[in-house]
Amino acid sequence: MPVLKKMESLLQINPNGLYCAAGDFYIDPWNPVERAVITHAHADHLCAGSKSYLSARPSEALLRARLDVEAAIESLAFGEARNINSVRVSFHPAGHILGSAQVRIEYQGQVWVASGDYKLALDPTCHAFETVACHTFITESTFGLPIFRWPEPGETLDEINAWWRGNQQAGKASVLFAYPLGKAQRVLAGIDSSIGPIYTHGAVERFNGIYHDGGVALPATQCARSAPPKTDWTRALILAPPMAKTAPWLRRFGDFSTGMASGWMRIRGTRRRRSIDRGFVLSDHADWPALLSAIRGSGAARVWVTHGYRAPLVRWLAENGVESDAIEMRFAGEQEAEVADEAEA
Ligand SMILES: [Zn+2]
Ligand SMILES: [Zn+2]
Repeated sequence: MPVLKKMESLLQINPNGLYCAAGDFYIDPWNPVERAVITHAHADHLCAGSKSYLSARPSEALLRARLDVEAAIESLAFGEARNINSVRVSFHPAGHILGSAQVRIEYQGQVWVASGDYKLALDPTCHAFETVACHTFITESTFGLPIFRWPEPGETLDEINAWWRGNQQAGKASVLFAYPLGKAQRVLAGIDSSIGPIYTHGAVERFNGIYHDGGVALPATQCARSAPPKTDWTRALILAPPMAKTAPWLRRFGDFSTGMASGWMRIRGTRRRRSIDRGFVLSDHADWPALLSAIRGSGAARVWVTHGYRAPLVRWLAENGVESDAIEMRFAGEQEAEVADEAEA
């Protein structure tokens, strides 16, 4: 699509985040505001304390779980539009986690799409990424370097299955660290649950329930906390958030092997630095080819790049004739592996 000449910027960054002046709302603000439009329920996109929230319908229960009980939350079905002060707002699947959405806004013939986080790989736990035509596309670039290319998710899930079986034969429990909202459920939906019993850390179990209520089929799991004292853990897979890695919580499992499912496992040395036995490359973000393909698909003549490795992507776009800018968001530095330790990826 050609960019309309002399248009005012429909979105801008101000001290509270990404702001639409014509509609008087923010997209994923990082401070409490009057009106917040939310792409998805991950903590770096969802700040508590705003007066009202609008999200895609399958996100609503996750927002409720993360915000104060009295928060005013409304939601729209994917594709349904609402006018906010004559700016037309709609949500379109981003394929990242349950309910994750790209926000499309339209005003006086200008169309912008803020992607939030997204991936193109198929994921049975959420709606598949939808290509939405726009003049300006705001893309994430958490993994915006050409070295980031993901294997087929099925291959990674097979590796996890084989590791689990191998641990059973060696008489060890299998403790798999995964981001508790999104990644853990994706692993659950894809692994071979006939291998053995599956236990969870409370942080994972909480979101499993919301996924289940949202119609996502997951195998049966049990909170490790409520398992009987003499449980034989050697056949079990235990799903836990990365923050549980150094917790006394782990002691109950006796002899165990550790694994981590994350896009960061693609970088040599990350696993060793985090003292994890096995790394499994499984990301809920677009890899380099998927970023380029999503950008191309949008038809946007202008691209704003946020999150992660922005400079390499901006450079590539410039070399390929696309006007682009790196946009400074609050969580700059997210690309540092150490910072990313607890970040979803
Ligand atoms: Zn996210
Ligand atoms: Zn994010």
